[in-house]
Amino acid sequence: MCGITGIIYNKTNNGIEIYQSLLSIQHRGQDGAGIYWINKNNSEIVRKSGLINQIFKLEQLKAMEGNIYLAHNRYKTNNIPNSYQPFVFKNDSVGEISMCHNGNITNVDEIIALLKIQYDCSIEVGSDSYVLGTYISELFKKYSEIESISKELQNTVEGSFCILISIYNYGLIAIRDKYGIRPLSYGKNKDNDYLVSSETCSFNHTNFTFIDDIHPGETVLFPTNGRENIHYRYQYNHPLQYYSPCLFEYIYFSRVDSIINAISVYKFRFLLGELLGKYIDCSNIDCIVPTPETSRTYAYGLSNVLKLPIQEAVVLNRYVNRTFIGEDKNDIFAKVKQKFSVIEEPIRNKTILVLDDSIVRGNTSKGIVELLKKAEPKAIYFASAAPKIYDTNKYGIHIENKEELITFRNKTNEEIANFIGVEKIFYTSLNDVLCLVNNLNSSIESMETSIFINK
Ligand code: 5GP
Ligand code: MG
Repeated sequence: MCGITGIIYNKTNNGIEIYQSLLSIQHRGQDGAGIYWINKNNSEIVRKSGLINQIFKLEQLKAMEGNIYLAHNRYKTNNIPNSYQPFVFKNDSVGEISMCHNGNITNVDEIIALLKIQYDCSIEVGSDSYVLGTYISELFKKYSEIESISKELQNTVEGSFCILISIYNYGLIAIRDKYGIRPLSYGKNKDNDYLVSSETCSFNHTNFTFIDDIHPGETVLFPTNGRENIHYRYQYNHPLQYYSPCLFEYIYFSRVDSIINAISVYKFRFLLGELLGKYIDCSNIDCIVPTPETSRTYAYGLSNVLKLPIQEAVVLNRYVNRTFIGEDKNDIFAKVKQKFSVIEEPIRNKTILVLDDSIVRGNTSKGIVELLKKAEPKAIYFASAAPKIYDTNKYGIHIENKEELITFRNKTNEEIANFIGVEKIFYTSLNDVLCLVNNLNSSIESMETSIFINK
């Protein structure tokens, strides 16, 4: 998935605010992170594996003198080495270019071929983001106008991309793909400095105030000089362009206090929790048990319509990461046990409805149910706020093959319930969710929902 953020200051500053912004989007990727900063002709970069607070120390941040900052946290979707961003490219025309990317490019081979044939530039290995960065650097040699660069980029590159670029002589540049698949927004502070971030929660932790989303197909330049209130915006328009943000951003990825495409993630989750209520056809439930953390907001909505109490029973050890990816089955269960524990007493002899934001492979839900059973509840039902997940994803969600999904081998709700070890399972429908999004922002008529389509 990844999180990207950048800041441009009028006066030389330090790395504390970019760190705060990056830290607030840590949930978008925990594999590694990087900060690049530039001060006139001097630039530096720190990037490596680990969580942000393990990588950067306060003294180091204070010493990061610069006026343009670019930062990235990585959610791993490939095993290509040296994939921590930002990337830095030497460029004869404009000097050094730094870029970072959130999303996934689907026509990498085409871009590599284009680079070779039209730009005489060869790439041996590199992630999709690295290929994209190389291409952007070449575009800056070919064109002097941001508009031309943006037009060619939008015409050529397929997939999802939110891009941040910094070039000392230009400034900070933000580009969002024409479908607006991943989120990107910007704001400013009282000194007319600008902050761009994948999510608006960055503004809650810094002295910047949200102004607007970078719109689908839009390029915004925050120039190094003469920036009093002026930034340059270019809107790419294509006859086949349509607004199609990723549904999973609302369901799982984004932080609950973010506003994505003018929709509050909190509001979306609360209302989807309410919608889920209509599928729950059992009258004997004693309480709703949310699985931490994402499903809590759905639980409030569900509790509101079903008039059932929420009972905390599953506790998360937040320092254990990524249960959902594991090499073998035993390993996954061991990780679930490390990550979750159950408070037994409040659910003993109760009929409980366990709630999660989504069921992907089913390992988390199966593992949690196993833990809950030790408390000897009377019965366990399970509900997923997300509709059923059927397919892989090419826009940055890490689902590599259909075979790993719970729905691949378990075709009916009964089979899924059986696999997880519960009496019954409930899902929302994709149509419900799409209507909800459209009600919350009528300009969103379509969404990137490929994982929810049963092909
Ligand atoms: P699964 O069914 O694959 O075992 O896991 C589903 C759980 O994983 C849900 O609780 C959901 O919150 C979480 N989840 C869904 N997608 C992702 C993801 O891309 N990364 C991580 N870390 N968790 C995810
Ligand atoms: Mg979860």
